[in-house]
Amino acid sequence: MNIRTQLTLSYIGIVLLVLFAMSFFLAGTLKGLLSDRIMNELEVQAALAREFLKEELPEKKNFTYQVIDGLVDRLGETGKVRLTFIGEDGTVWGDTERDGDSLIAMEEHLTRAEVQDALNLGSGVSKRESKTTGIEYHYFALPVERNGNLIGFCRVALPMETVNTALGDLQQILLFVSIAGSILAILFGVLTTGAIVKPIKRLTQITQSIAAGENTSQVEVKSDNELGQLSRNFNLMTDRVQDHIEKISLENQRLETILTNMSEGVLLVNGASEITYANPAAIVMLNLPEMYLGRALIEINRIPELQALLRKAEETEAVAFSEIRLGNLQESEAEVTIVPVAAESEYVIVIHDVSHVRQLERIRSDFVANVSHELRTPLTTIQGYAETLLNNGSTKNKKRKEFIGKILKHSARLSRLVSDLLELARLESRDIELKRSLCHLNDFHEQILDVFEPVLEEAGVTLQWNISEGLPQVNVDSQLFMQVFVNLIDNAIKYTPDGGVIDISAELIETESDTADEVVVHIKDTGIGIPLESQSRVFERFYRVDKGRARKMGGTGLGLAITKHILLCHNGRIWLESELGQGTVFYFALPFEESS
Ligand code: ADP
Repeated sequence: MNIRTQLTLSYIGIVLLVLFAMSFFLAGTLKGLLSDRIMNELEVQAALAREFLKEELPEKKNFTYQVIDGLVDRLGETGKVRLTFIGEDGTVWGDTERDGDSLIAMEEHLTRAEVQDALNLGSGVSKRESKTTGIEYHYFALPVERNGNLIGFCRVALPMETVNTALGDLQQILLFVSIAGSILAILFGVLTTGAIVKPIKRLTQITQSIAAGENTSQVEVKSDNELGQLSRNFNLMTDRVQDHIEKISLENQRLETILTNMSEGVLLVNGASEITYANPAAIVMLNLPEMYLGRALIEINRIPELQALLRKAEETEAVAFSEIRLGNLQESEAEVTIVPVAAESEYVIVIHDVSHVRQLERIRSDFVANVSHELRTPLTTIQGYAETLLNNGSTKNKKRKEFIGKILKHSARLSRLVSDLLELARLESRDIELKRSLCHLNDFHEQILDVFEPVLEEAGVTLQWNISEGLPQVNVDSQLFMQVFVNLIDNAIKYTPDGGVIDISAELIETESDTADEVVVHIKDTGIGIPLESQSRVFERFYRVDKGRARKMGGTGLGLAITKHILLCHNGRIWLESELGQGTVFYFALPFEESS
């Protein structure tokens, strides 16, 4: 039901309710008023009739129907009332409504309520249907006395019809007024609601068109009332909505342009791993078919590492990163980052193709390896000749001896550098086969002492070995792994002043259930420390905090880079904590599952 019908029906309802209440009230009042008037009228008529009868009635013994009915009829002609004369014994002697035999046949009236009241109380009133005429009457009876003796009762009656007719007339008037009122209510309803409904209809149309995503238009403001205010506010709101829509679509356009033209692949998957978006780069990288939207990623692209990474992001609800081979058609390597979109249970997958970078790295690494390799032979030759020159006593000249010594020292340094570079290139290219075996960390203790005892003594530094026998064994290539200890302890000695202490300890760290437990080794020194800005860079090749000092110490700047790569080959990791002037702790961790 629309507003117009509702309001019109309400108006009609109100009109009818008022009229009904009015008719109920009026009918009651009118009935009472008319009854009162009739009673007054009857009282007057009865009193007049009594006086008349008192005068005109013959002696009681001369009562005949003819005489008395004639008197009563004559008297009745003057008023419009029914007049009855009843003898003191109840005999009806005269009645304006009856004549002759029918009068004689009338039953005695002494038992009538109004007659009884007239006898006992002096006057009697009654309202009932007449047994004689069958019409409803108002009765009024008075006793008629002569010389103090009761001779009968005079009774006047008016039919209720008068009242009923008046009430009927009233009802007719009210019915007419109701119909007229209803018509007026409809007209009023249609006219007044039109002014309200029209702007509302317009508002509804516009909201529908906004909901359907069509262009928004304005509502005409015609008045200053509440509806006008509503329309004005609505127009303001649509303006803002329009602004927002324009801004959003501009943003969308921008975003779309960026996504379409970027070289990284961007993919959006929902909680069920179904693809909800893929930019052109992602389509190419993952070789997606034409109808990829809404299909599960696993169905289209069976790369286990990608699925595992997605599962990891889903489980941890955190950013997951990994380098993955997207081997569909071409062998490509990619860095894949999966970012959960908060509260949407969606995941953004960003694929960065690093094949080219990795290829360049390989070329560079190969180049370094080749150059180092090529340098090795001439270097060995130079070293050989210099040693021969120095040892065969052919040179007595002190200066010459010194120069040859320098040639030997620097070619030895160059040779160390070349072998370190070769080693690093091998580790970086993962071109090595690990000869893993189970061994305890304490197995390295003796070898380390063999290597470092003279050096420690010379440097005035103490080495404390505090690794518990209770620790589990590790599964490592022991020769390579020895290099880790050698590099780290060598550095600790080099950068710890006389009187310092190097402490080596280890512990088993239990990690979260999805990652393996780790054996973590601590190599702590009381040396010069590493400044904060250098801490993240010391693992880069050739990075040295203090170049002059490091060179004097005979370092190549490759030690920590080699150490890091040896650990990476063992799926381990390395990090450090250091305070300038206080010392440094290098930590390296090996996954425990490897050794179990
Ligand atoms: P190097 O051959 O020069 O020692 P590394 O790669 O082993 O090269 O180390 C890189 C740099 O890290 C060093 O030059 C030095 O500045 C710093 N470094 C390494 N270990 C320590 C340490 N224990 N204490 C202070 N500085 C250190």
